Amino acid sequence: MTSTPPFAVFSCDLDTIDRHLQGYGIEDLPACDRIYRTAVPRLLDLLKELGVPGVFFFIARDANSEAPLLRQMVAAGHEVASHSMTHPQPFRTLGDAALAEEVDVSRTRLSAASGAEVIGFRAPGWDVDDRVLARIAAAGYRYDASIFPTPVLIASRLSAYRRSANKGSIFSMDLIGHAFATAVPHRLGAATNGFVEFPISVTRWLRLPVYHTFQYFVPPRLFARGVRALLRSGRPVCYEFHAADLLDLAGDDIDPRMDRHPGMRLPLEQKRAMLRDTLATITRERRVVTYRQALEERLAA
Ligand SMILES: [Zn+2]
Repeated sequence: MTSTPPFAVFSCDLDTIDRHLQGYGIEDLPACDRIYRTAVPRLLDLLKELGVPGVFFFIARDANSEAPLLRQMVAAGHEVASHSMTHPQPFRTLGDAALAEEVDVSRTRLSAASGAEVIGFRAPGWDVDDRVLARIAAAGYRYDASIFPTPVLIASRLSAYRRSANKGSIFSMDLIGHAFATAVPHRLGAATNGFVEFPISVTRWLRLPVYHTFQYFVPPRLFARGVRALLRSGRPVCYEFHAADLLDLAGDDIDPRMDRHPGMRLPLEQKRAMLRDTLATITRERRVVTYRQALEERLAA
């Protein structure tokens, strides 16, 4: 462990509606900017209310059209990171040229559009292996945040598979490799230039996810117990959520096929309270920073 006080990072994946639906096998939808106009302002308000920064993983396809929003995030103290160019799934099986486009070009586009150098990457569906991680490091990123070290991921993939219209992709992911990977921030080996992996948080022994979407599947008391156990353990907290966690299916006029997505049948105010409560609980006990700050201040050594 480090001698510095433990920190927390709040990260949000800005998956658009069309990309979420593509993940369920519903292809060829036009690009949808609904989350940028509805969910993202709510997220920015919530982080402002809590007085903490966040890390926004952005799909670089939309970097130019959303440049004002990117710059607004940076000006407010948030970090912009890459969530690939077009969010293709499965990600790990892309060929070399396509992988380089998703990883390298997304970084340059988001850096230019946001006015701040992008140093972080999270793969669509957390689907990374050694080859993908080596590409990410070679592209100039300083960290990856795609490892989700929990056996629950296997169950969650099976559940998503059942809800998917396209039964092609689930078993392409290295689920077993993820499940037992190192669960705290760590440097990766020489092949990746020693850059840092920030895994999604899990509890120490059972490796229960301390990940927002998990809240939609388990009793609130069980989830709260996991959050408390993680805070007590002194481990860093890397808490991930999605823009869709502050979307209202009916109120925001969202494609009704999004009803299969976790949490989409809950009213917005209930979802907002769930997210606010968890972030506030973590904020009371931890110094909340961005991944960039954690690296710069060597909090993750
Ligand atoms: Zn995503």
